[in-house]
Amino acid sequence: MLYDVAVIGAGPAGSTAAKFCAMRGLKTLLLDRQIFPRPKTCGGGITSAAINTIGFPLPEHTVLSQVHKLRSIINNKTVSIPHPRPFMVITERSVFDNFLVEKAIEAGTDFQQNENVKGLTKEDRYYTIKTHHNSFKAKALIGADGVYSAAAKLAGLNSRYKSCALCLTTEIPAKSNHSLDEIQINYDLLPKGYGWVFPKGDRLTLGVGCFEGSYGMLRKALTKLAVTTRSETPDIVKGHYLPYSGQSPECVGDGIILAGDAAGFVDPFTGEGIRYAIISGMMAGETLWNCYRNGVPPNKKNLAGYLNKCHQGFLRDLKYSYMLARTFFAFPSVMHRFLSENPKMYSHLLNILEGRYSYKKLIKDVAVELPKYYLNLPKYQFSRTGQIRE
Ligand SMILES: Cc1cc2nc3c(=O)[nH]c(=O)nc-3n(C[C@H](O)[C@H](O)[C@H](O)COP(=O)(O)OP(=O)(O)OC[C@H]3O[C@@H](n4cnc5c(N)ncnc54)[C@H](O)[C@@H]3O)c2cc1C
Repeated sequence: MLYDVAVIGAGPAGSTAAKFCAMRGLKTLLLDRQIFPRPKTCGGGITSAAINTIGFPLPEHTVLSQVHKLRSIINNKTVSIPHPRPFMVITERSVFDNFLVEKAIEAGTDFQQNENVKGLTKEDRYYTIKTHHNSFKAKALIGADGVYSAAAKLAGLNSRYKSCALCLTTEIPAKSNHSLDEIQINYDLLPKGYGWVFPKGDRLTLGVGCFEGSYGMLRKALTKLAVTTRSETPDIVKGHYLPYSGQSPECVGDGIILAGDAAGFVDPFTGEGIRYAIISGMMAGETLWNCYRNGVPPNKKNLAGYLNKCHQGFLRDLKYSYMLARTFFAFPSVMHRFLSENPKMYSHLLNILEGRYSYKKLIKDVAVELPKYYLNLPKYQFSRTGQIRE
């Protein structure tokens, strides 16, 4: 059978793209090398903004906890930021991703698992996709196979990321009194990186991530983080790369579009990727659908509008996130002190996770407030307990 579109990779980007195409009547194939439900190294934090992009509420069985509070720690100083609304839910990625695949199948997608894509050949009007066991034909491809994207390499796209963060994660049993509605971020574990503790029901996910230059310190940082939760040093540790420096150089080729991590769509400041995987998956599906609807071939020229959509939808704002990340991790303790003494800034950050605020506005706020803070204007006179005296 000749498919209209083959989506490679059934993470959030791939299953969203497949659902979008199948719902519009395109003959859609979704391939993944793993058998679902499959494990995925991730904190499992789905922000409210990400949930809004899915377009329907998450069923109860996919939600382990709802998060209302952020606890941020640096140099033994803790700031607790309660939020009036839940800004994130925590899920088990195997369950969440499987749910999205089910939705794609319901929409009419042909899902083939345990199919590791090993080769792509471009004929005049279609691609032949070779896996370990089979071969498939499709008029166009969406490469949604994650940070190491085989689809991008096999299609000859330049998909080298400028920079990747390396993350190590582990899971430990949660203490019975551990708060389920709070996530913890530690900024004092290693230079140019941070750690996180996310509650996952009766377990905690611990992770540390850093930019290039500090990779060698990650193990020690994870052990330090485990100590803050009064846990044993974890045995089973998983590592994974996260593209953080913006889109990959070529996200579109002749008959192929990259989405999600494969395209480098991750928030450089928070590491959030699921939201952008879902949005870009939808935009990739929409771009192909427009070609078929208008009767034009899905060649590079006709797919070029995809990047404009991504720019307008989220990439423009993620550039400000990159600026914030660079500034924050160049001067972590200064920035943390500034933010913790301006809780409104942290609240804005949580509003960004809800999709109610933008990095552009936050950067402007920081640019206005930071110099005042340093000039020690009267507004920022502090008492010895750290309270602000207006
Ligand atoms: C440690 C860590 C913690 C994170 N925590 C969070 C978080 O809390 N919240 C958040 O929003 N983001 C988080 N992220 C980022 C998030 O996990 C990714 O951005 C997101 O999974 C990207 O989705 P995707 O669909 O693009 O790719 P993926 O989810 O990586 O899915 C790619 C799929 O492609 C398949 N595949 C790969 N190669 C092939 C092949 N050759 N043939 C067929 N199939 C293939 C894989 O099996 C996989 O199923 C975290 C990342 C890391 C590393």
